[in-house]
Amino acid sequence: MRVLIVGVGGLGCPAALALHGAHALTLVDHDVVERSNLHRQVLYGPEDLGRPKAEVAARKLPGATALQEKVTAENAPELFRAHDVVLDGTDGATTKLMLSDAAVQTGVPLVYGGVLKEQGQAMVIRPGGPCLRCLFEGATEGPTCAQAGVLGTVAGVVGFKQAELCVSLAAGLHTFDGKSLKWRAVEVRRAADCPSCPASVDITREVCPMTYVRVKLALEKLEKGRLLEVWLKGEEPLKNVPQSAREEGHQVLDLTPHGDRSRLLLKVG
Ligand SMILES: [Zn+2]
Repeated sequence: MRVLIVGVGGLGCPAALALHGAHALTLVDHDVVERSNLHRQVLYGPEDLGRPKAEVAARKLPGATALQEKVTAENAPELFRAHDVVLDGTDGATTKLMLSDAAVQTGVPLVYGGVLKEQGQAMVIRPGGPCLRCLFEGATEGPTCAQAGVLGTVAGVVGFKQAELCVSLAAGLHTFDGKSLKWRAVEVRRAADCPSCPASVDITREVCPMTYVRVKLALEKLEKGRLLEVWLKGEEPLKNVPQSAREEGHQVLDLTPHGDRSRLLLKVG
């Protein structure tokens, strides 16, 4: 499996250690190692201070690829598409929401992780939702872990959990309490008013020409610029539905297989 780890810090270091050897890792980080990182960013030692994190981490995990760059809304879709799963090891709500949007757009699963003081959480964001905006849109930007402080061991536990979720892709929001040392899994749903999640229509059981009719009806309900996700199956709809959508002026953003189904992402034109 090709795994992209965005941010090789408190979450990314343990996750990379857990996944290394069994999976092809790409480690992307634009930061350098600082003294305050050392207690929880377990791939680095005092001799690495001032050096690029991605490069140092890749040297310690032979076979891993280092990318020393910042992941932005512009380069994220291409990076996502070159991997099977993406692990969020970043700090700060804005970047996390941007990564969640890239997962929605590309259909490549993202394993989100977050820690604050002695609390941690992790969740897989995949086609069909929910995404991170379903849960946190409108919430005020909280402090980053660099500002609020984080218990190093909690970051380690959450990073390992994220590594496990990369493989299992288990559903739900997984929360960890560093006082009781207990994990809980909570069921989460798509928010009806989520600004990121596309509207969804499932035509896997339909036969042509119902496939066209159902997609057309779904598109007519949406304003220009909104997204529609179509789940399809079978040779004819797979070929013809995207083609007819294009001919009617809609944009095909993504068409990827997910098990025995395929997901077509359309932007209403
Ligand atoms: Zn959403």
